[in-house]
Amino acid sequence: MKDYLVKALAFNGTIRAYAVRSTDTISEVQKRHDIWPTTSAALGRSMSAAVMMGAMLKGEDKLTIKIEGDGPIGPMVIDSNAHGEVRGYASNPDVHFELNEMGKLDVKRAVGTSGMLTVVKDLGLREFFTGQVPIVSGEIAEDFTEYFVVSEQVPSAVALGVLVNPDNSIKAAGGFIIQVMPGATDETIGILEERIANMEPISTMIDGGLSPEEVLSSVLGAENVEILDMVDVSFKCNCSKERFGNAIIGLGEKEIREMIAEDGQAEANCHFCLESYVYDKEELEGYIHEIQSRS
Ligand code: ZN
Repeated sequence: MKDYLVKALAFNGTIRAYAVRSTDTISEVQKRHDIWPTTSAALGRSMSAAVMMGAMLKGEDKLTIKIEGDGPIGPMVIDSNAHGEVRGYASNPDVHFELNEMGKLDVKRAVGTSGMLTVVKDLGLREFFTGQVPIVSGEIAEDFTEYFVVSEQVPSAVALGVLVNPDNSIKAAGGFIIQVMPGATDETIGILEERIANMEPISTMIDGGLSPEEVLSSVLGAENVEILDMVDVSFKCNCSKERFGNAIIGLGEKEIREMIAEDGQAEANCHFCLESYVYDKEELEGYIHEIQSRS
Protein backbone atom coordinates (compact mmCIF):
# COMPACT_ATOMS: atom_id res chain seq x y z
CA MET A 1 0.00 0.00 0.00
CA LYS A 2 1.29 3.47 -0.83
CA ASP A 3 0.91 6.49 1.44
CA TYR A 4 -2.28 8.50 1.06
CA LEU A 5 -4.90 10.32 3.07
CA VAL A 6 -8.67 10.43 2.88
CA LYS A 7 -11.12 13.20 3.68
CA ALA A 8 -14.56 12.12 4.80
CA LEU A 9 -17.83 13.20 6.31
CA ALA A 10 -19.82 11.15 8.78
CA PHE A 11 -23.11 11.24 10.68
CA ASN A 12 -24.95 13.28 8.02
CA GLY A 13 -22.15 15.78 7.56
CA THR A 14 -21.93 16.75 11.22
CA ILE A 15 -18.55 15.04 11.62
CA ARG A 16 -15.52 15.76 9.44
CA ALA A 17 -12.75 13.18 9.38
CA TYR A 18 -9.26 12.69 7.96
CA ALA A 19 -7.04 9.62 8.10
CA VAL A 20 -3.56 9.02 6.74
CA ARG A 21 -1.10 6.22 6.16
CA SER A 22 2.32 7.92 6.25
CA THR A 23 4.68 4.94 6.73
CA ASP A 24 6.80 5.49 3.59
CA THR A 25 6.91 9.27 4.04
CA ILE A 26 8.16 9.08 7.63
CA SER A 27 10.48 6.27 6.57
CA GLU A 28 12.12 8.55 4.00
CA VAL A 29 12.64 11.28 6.62
CA GLN A 30 14.07 8.72 9.06
CA LYS A 31 16.58 7.51 6.45
CA ARG A 32 17.60 10.96 5.22
CA HIS A 33 18.31 12.25 8.73
CA ASP A 34 19.31 8.89 10.28
CA ILE A 35 16.84 9.60 13.08
CA TRP A 36 16.74 7.73 16.39
CA PRO A 37 13.48 6.12 17.48
CA THR A 38 12.07 8.63 19.97
CA THR A 39 12.70 11.51 17.55
CA SER A 40 11.11 9.43 14.76
CA ALA A 41 7.97 9.04 16.86
CA ALA A 42 7.80 12.75 17.74
CA LEU A 43 8.51 14.00 14.22
CA GLY A 44 6.49 11.23 12.55
CA ARG A 45 3.42 11.99 14.66
CA SER A 46 3.79 15.73 13.98
CA MET A 47 4.26 15.25 10.22
CA SER A 48 1.24 12.92 10.05
CA ALA A 49 -0.87 15.62 11.71
CA ALA A 50 0.62 18.29 9.43
CA VAL A 51 -0.19 16.45 6.20
CA MET A 52 -3.83 15.98 7.31
CA MET A 53 -4.00 19.69 8.20
CA GLY A 54 -2.61 20.44 4.74
CA ALA A 55 -5.61 18.59 3.34
CA MET A 56 -7.87 21.10 5.12
CA LEU A 57 -6.38 23.86 2.92
CA LYS A 58 -7.38 24.80 -0.62
CA GLY A 59 -5.45 25.20 -3.88
CA GLU A 60 -1.92 26.50 -3.38
CA ASP A 61 -2.34 27.39 0.30
CA LYS A 62 0.29 25.94 2.59
CA LEU A 63 1.15 25.78 6.24
CA THR A 64 4.13 25.66 8.57
CA ILE A 65 4.01 24.07 12.00
CA LYS A 66 6.61 24.76 14.64
CA ILE A 67 6.73 22.75 17.85
CA GLU A 68 9.13 24.25 20.33
CA GLY A 69 9.23 22.28 23.56
CA ASP A 70 11.81 22.33 26.34
CA GLY A 71 12.93 18.73 25.69
CA PRO A 72 16.15 17.54 24.03
CA ILE A 73 14.68 17.29 20.50
CA GLY A 74 14.59 21.09 20.28
CA PRO A 75 12.35 22.85 17.76
CA MET A 76 10.62 20.75 15.10
CA VAL A 77 9.56 22.49 11.89
CA ILE A 78 7.12 21.02 9.37
CA ASP A 79 5.73 22.33 6.07
CA SER A 80 2.75 20.85 4.27
CA ASN A 81 0.20 21.74 1.62
CA ALA A 82 -3.09 20.68 0.06
CA HIS A 83 -1.34 18.28 -2.34
CA GLY A 84 -0.24 15.81 0.33
CA GLU A 85 3.34 17.07 0.24
CA VAL A 86 5.13 17.34 3.56
CA ARG A 87 8.65 17.95 4.81
CA GLY A 88 9.99 18.33 8.32
CA TYR A 89 12.97 18.16 10.61
CA ALA A 90 13.80 18.00 14.28
CA SER A 91 16.70 20.13 15.52
CA ASN A 92 18.19 17.09 17.25
CA PRO A 93 17.52 13.83 15.39
CA ASP A 94 19.60 11.74 17.82
CA VAL A 95 17.19 11.42 20.73
CA HIS A 96 16.20 8.11 22.19
CA PHE A 97 14.99 7.06 25.65
CA GLU A 98 13.87 3.85 27.27
CA LEU A 99 10.21 3.03 26.59
CA ASN A 100 7.78 4.67 29.01
CA GLU A 101 5.69 2.81 31.62
CA MET A 102 3.12 1.99 28.90
CA GLY A 103 5.78 0.33 26.77
CA LYS A 104 5.70 3.17 24.22
CA LEU A 105 8.33 5.51 22.84
CA ASP A 106 8.71 8.32 25.38
CA VAL A 107 7.77 11.21 23.09
CA LYS A 108 6.78 13.51 25.94
CA ARG A 109 10.23 13.27 27.49
CA ALA A 110 11.90 14.03 24.15
CA VAL A 111 9.64 16.94 23.14
CA GLY A 112 9.18 18.43 26.61
CA THR A 113 6.03 19.40 28.43
CA SER A 114 6.23 23.15 28.17
CA GLY A 115 6.69 25.38 25.15
CA MET A 116 4.63 26.39 22.13
CA LEU A 117 2.91 24.85 19.13
CA THR A 118 2.52 27.39 16.34
CA VAL A 119 0.66 27.00 13.06
CA VAL A 120 1.11 29.57 10.28
CA LYS A 121 -1.18 29.19 7.27
CA ASP A 122 -0.10 30.95 4.09
CA LEU A 123 -3.38 31.61 2.32
CA GLY A 124 -1.84 33.45 -0.66
CA LEU A 125 -1.87 37.15 -1.54
CA ARG A 126 0.13 37.87 1.63
CA GLU A 127 -2.73 36.67 3.80
CA PHE A 128 -1.60 34.69 6.83
CA PHE A 129 -3.39 33.00 9.70
CA THR A 130 -1.34 32.29 12.81
CA GLY A 131 -2.54 30.16 15.70
CA GLN A 132 -0.50 29.37 18.77
CA VAL A 133 -1.13 27.25 21.85
CA PRO A 134 1.06 26.18 24.74
CA ILE A 135 2.25 22.58 24.66
CA VAL A 136 -0.09 20.74 27.04
CA SER A 137 1.30 17.20 26.93
CA GLY A 138 4.33 16.75 24.67
CA GLU A 139 2.77 13.55 23.29
CA ILE A 140 1.81 15.56 20.14
CA ALA A 141 -1.75 14.24 19.50
CA GLU A 142 -3.06 15.93 22.66
CA ASP A 143 -1.22 19.09 21.66
CA PHE A 144 -2.92 19.20 18.26
CA THR A 145 -6.28 18.50 19.93
CA GLU A 146 -5.66 21.56 22.11
CA TYR A 147 -4.70 23.60 19.05
CA PHE A 148 -7.96 22.76 17.23
CA VAL A 149 -10.12 23.51 20.26
CA VAL A 150 -8.40 26.74 21.32
CA SER A 151 -7.16 28.24 18.05
CA GLU A 152 -9.78 27.05 15.57
CA GLN A 153 -12.70 26.47 17.96
CA VAL A 154 -13.30 23.00 16.51
CA PRO A 155 -13.68 20.17 19.05
CA SER A 156 -11.49 17.39 17.66
CA ALA A 157 -10.13 13.94 18.40
CA VAL A 158 -6.57 13.42 17.14
CA ALA A 159 -4.74 10.08 17.09
CA LEU A 160 -1.19 9.77 15.77
CA GLY A 161 1.13 6.80 15.85
CA VAL A 162 4.58 5.66 14.73
CA LEU A 163 6.07 2.18 15.23
CA VAL A 164 9.84 1.81 14.94
CA ASN A 165 11.71 -1.43 14.13
CA PRO A 166 14.68 -2.58 16.25
CA ASP A 167 17.04 -1.33 13.48
CA ASN A 168 15.49 2.20 13.80
CA SER A 169 13.63 1.93 10.47
CA ILE A 170 9.93 2.84 10.42
CA LYS A 171 7.45 -0.03 10.72
CA ALA A 172 4.21 1.91 10.52
CA ALA A 173 3.00 5.50 10.74
CA GLY A 174 -0.36 7.20 10.43
CA GLY A 175 -3.17 8.96 12.18
CA PHE A 176 -6.63 10.42 12.08
CA ILE A 177 -8.37 13.68 12.96
CA ILE A 178 -12.09 13.67 13.70
CA GLN A 179 -13.83 17.03 14.03
CA VAL A 180 -17.23 17.94 15.38
CA MET A 181 -19.11 20.38 13.15
CA PRO A 182 -21.98 22.61 14.22
CA GLY A 183 -25.19 20.58 14.27
CA ALA A 184 -23.66 17.40 15.66
CA THR A 185 -26.02 15.87 18.20
CA ASP A 186 -25.11 14.83 21.74
CA GLU A 187 -25.97 11.30 20.67
CA THR A 188 -23.37 11.38 17.86
CA ILE A 189 -20.74 12.81 20.19
CA GLY A 190 -21.56 10.14 22.77
CA ILE A 191 -21.16 7.36 20.18
CA LEU A 192 -17.83 8.81 19.02
CA GLU A 193 -16.45 9.18 22.53
CA GLU A 194 -17.29 5.57 23.30
CA ARG A 195 -15.83 4.25 20.04
CA ILE A 196 -12.61 6.27 20.42
CA ALA A 197 -12.17 5.15 24.04
CA ASN A 198 -12.40 1.51 22.95
CA MET A 199 -10.44 1.59 19.68
CA GLU A 200 -7.09 -0.07 19.01
CA PRO A 201 -4.03 2.22 18.93
CA ILE A 202 -3.75 3.88 15.50
CA SER A 203 -0.22 2.51 14.97
CA THR A 204 -1.58 -1.04 15.49
CA MET A 205 -4.28 -0.42 12.89
CA ILE A 206 -1.80 0.88 10.30
CA ASP A 207 0.68 -1.89 11.08
CA GLY A 208 -2.14 -4.40 10.70
CA GLY A 209 -2.59 -3.22 7.11
CA LEU A 210 -5.73 -1.11 7.53
CA SER A 211 -6.13 1.52 4.81
CA PRO A 212 -7.08 5.10 5.80
CA GLU A 213 -10.69 4.33 4.76
CA GLU A 214 -10.70 1.24 6.96
CA VAL A 215 -9.28 3.22 9.87
CA LEU A 216 -12.19 5.67 9.63
CA SER A 217 -14.70 2.82 9.24
CA SER A 218 -13.28 1.17 12.30
CA VAL A 219 -13.44 4.33 14.39
CA LEU A 220 -16.69 5.87 13.09
CA GLY A 221 -18.59 2.79 11.93
CA ALA A 222 -18.52 1.79 8.25
CA GLU A 223 -22.21 2.65 7.75
CA ASN A 224 -21.59 6.24 8.89
CA VAL A 225 -18.62 7.21 6.71
CA GLU A 226 -18.79 8.98 3.36
CA ILE A 227 -15.35 9.31 1.70
CA LEU A 228 -15.04 12.62 -0.17
CA ASP A 229 -11.50 12.63 -1.47
CA MET A 230 -8.19 10.74 -1.56
CA VAL A 231 -4.80 12.46 -1.80
CA ASP A 232 -1.40 10.81 -2.32
CA VAL A 233 1.05 11.65 0.47
CA SER A 234 4.80 12.07 0.02
CA PHE A 235 7.93 13.69 1.38
CA LYS A 236 8.71 16.68 -0.82
CA CYS A 237 11.26 19.44 -0.38
CA ASN A 238 10.99 22.43 -2.70
CA CYS A 239 14.46 23.81 -1.99
CA SER A 240 16.75 24.71 -4.89
CA LYS A 241 20.05 26.41 -5.59
CA GLU A 242 18.13 29.42 -6.87
CA ARG A 243 16.00 29.75 -3.69
CA PHE A 244 19.04 29.67 -1.42
CA GLY A 245 20.77 32.04 -3.87
CA ASN A 246 17.96 34.54 -3.34
CA ALA A 247 18.49 34.21 0.41
CA ILE A 248 22.20 34.99 -0.09
CA ILE A 249 21.29 38.06 -2.18
CA GLY A 250 19.05 39.09 0.72
CA LEU A 251 22.08 39.17 3.03
CA GLY A 252 23.41 42.17 1.12
CA GLU A 253 26.62 43.16 -0.65
CA LYS A 254 28.81 43.59 2.43
CA GLU A 255 28.04 40.11 3.74
CA ILE A 256 28.68 38.49 0.35
CA ARG A 257 32.04 40.31 0.00
CA GLU A 258 33.00 38.91 3.40
CA MET A 259 32.10 35.39 2.27
CA ILE A 260 34.32 35.79 -0.80
CA ALA A 261 37.19 37.20 1.28
CA GLU A 262 36.97 34.54 3.99
CA ASP A 263 36.14 31.33 2.11
CA GLY A 264 36.17 32.19 -1.57
CA GLN A 265 32.75 30.50 -1.72
CA ALA A 266 29.51 29.96 0.18
CA GLU A 267 27.61 26.85 1.12
CA ALA A 268 23.93 26.53 1.99
CA ASN A 269 22.40 23.44 3.60
CA CYS A 270 18.71 22.57 3.59
CA HIS A 271 17.49 21.56 7.07
CA PHE A 272 14.60 19.63 5.54
CA CYS A 273 16.24 17.35 2.96
CA LEU A 274 19.93 17.87 3.86
CA GLU A 275 20.78 18.86 0.29
CA SER A 276 23.78 21.21 0.17
CA TYR A 277 24.45 23.87 -2.43
CA VAL A 278 27.84 25.46 -3.10
CA TYR A 279 28.26 28.94 -4.62
CA ASP A 280 31.68 29.70 -6.08
CA LYS A 281 33.35 33.09 -6.28
CA GLU A 282 31.97 33.87 -9.75
CA GLU A 283 28.41 33.11 -8.65
CA LEU A 284 28.80 35.27 -5.55
CA GLU A 285 30.23 38.14 -7.62
CA GLY A 286 27.26 37.72 -9.95
CA TYR A 287 24.96 38.25 -6.96
CA ILE A 288 26.85 41.43 -6.05
CA HIS A 289 26.34 42.72 -9.61
CA GLU A 290 22.66 41.89 -9.31
CA ILE A 291 22.39 43.88 -6.06
CA GLN A 292 24.28 46.81 -7.58
CA SER A 293 22.13 46.85 -10.72
CA ARG A 294 19.00 47.06 -8.59
CA SER A 295 20.08 50.05 -6.54
ZN1 ZN B 1 15.55 20.75 0.81
